Amino acid sequence: MPEQRTIPFGRPLIGPQEKAAVAAVLDGPMLVHGPRAKQFEADFAAFCGGGSAVSVSSCTAALHLFYFSRGVGPGDEVIVPAQTHVATAHAVELTGARPVFVDAEPATGNIDPDQIEAAVTPCTKAISVVHFLGEPADMERINAIAAKHGLLVLEDCALSLGASRSGVHTGLLGDAGCFSFYPVKHMTTAEGGMLLTRHPDLARDVSLKRAFGVDRVVGERAVPGVYDVVALGLNYRMNEIQAALGQVQLTRVRGFLEAREANHHVLSEGLAGIDEIALFASQGPEVTPSRYCLSILLRDKVAARRFEIIGGLKARGVGTSVYYPKPVPHMRYYRDKYGFGPETFPVAARISSTCIALPVGPHLGADDMRYIVKALKETLLENV
Ligand SMILES: *Cc1c(COP(=O)(O)O)cnc(C)c1O
Repeated sequence: MPEQRTIPFGRPLIGPQEKAAVAAVLDGPMLVHGPRAKQFEADFAAFCGGGSAVSVSSCTAALHLFYFSRGVGPGDEVIVPAQTHVATAHAVELTGARPVFVDAEPATGNIDPDQIEAAVTPCTKAISVVHFLGEPADMERINAIAAKHGLLVLEDCALSLGASRSGVHTGLLGDAGCFSFYPVKHMTTAEGGMLLTRHPDLARDVSLKRAFGVDRVVGERAVPGVYDVVALGLNYRMNEIQAALGQVQLTRVRGFLEAREANHHVLSEGLAGIDEIALFASQGPEVTPSRYCLSILLRDKVAARRFEIIGGLKARGVGTSVYYPKPVPHMRYYRDKYGFGPETFPVAARISSTCIALPVGPHLGADDMRYIVKALKETLLENV
């Protein structure tokens, strides 16, 4: 019998410390507005090396809150990468502004800086950037374009916790960065997110609008129940259960990130030299990526067999995913609304139709990576 393993694509690592921290919240009086969310924000900013952090209920909430806070709305445009999670575009749509999609660059899958400037119009308010699969986008160039045209820059850092350029953590390169703590991300609070910014005034405004626009939260009120509402706001708070989980996860995240890097290294070495696949390129030494997965791109001779190859990996116990199944403008909602044809965004479309994402999470080790290489080689042989 050949060796058979079970390798899930992603699995949150929740240990006794997380369980104890959650139980402590449930035993106490404060489920929301307590000290844990505040402390988690401070811990998170410290981990990222600075800025102000505002905890929220998800990354999508953080993205939306940024545009809402900055008054982006009907008649405005925001430049958005075509190759991303739909939340990046939905956050713009929700405000009534129009997402203007820009294709990916082939080497990294990030938004193509060469095509951004052509998408700028007098209605453009912001450029949104996604650090695709944890590979930091070229923020020096993107910030220069933004500065020239007076645009805001929002970073979607849902997959880039731990990633930096020239020592500056993603999220502190643009005007704000939005992080996700969804279960399969680099760390989890079940659901949850964080907005990180180097602008303290933006952090204050976002904090206010995250909780109804109320001027004083519980605990700051001289007379219980008495407050005023100074702005229109949402309810996008993170609760104390989530924050307790996040505080513990954050103490472990260095180890998670190192395990991801080590797995990615073993896996990419094992995959080098397989003719049927291509890998994304790594950038210069000033760029520190954060490894979410290792996405392989099938070359022409096997590309049509992608679903069979995914099936072959699954039969060998290897969980995979796809980032992303289609460019966002080709998803039905956006296609129907804006009329994008199949020939648009060719680079993103090619990545979507040829990629298979392989796992590198901290629930796995070097032996798992070697098993994945072997399983992929066997599967490719069956499909040439
Ligand atoms: C997961 C993800 C999101 C959404 O995060 P939520 O916390 O689930 O709202 C947004 N953008 C990217 C790039 C993601 O990977």
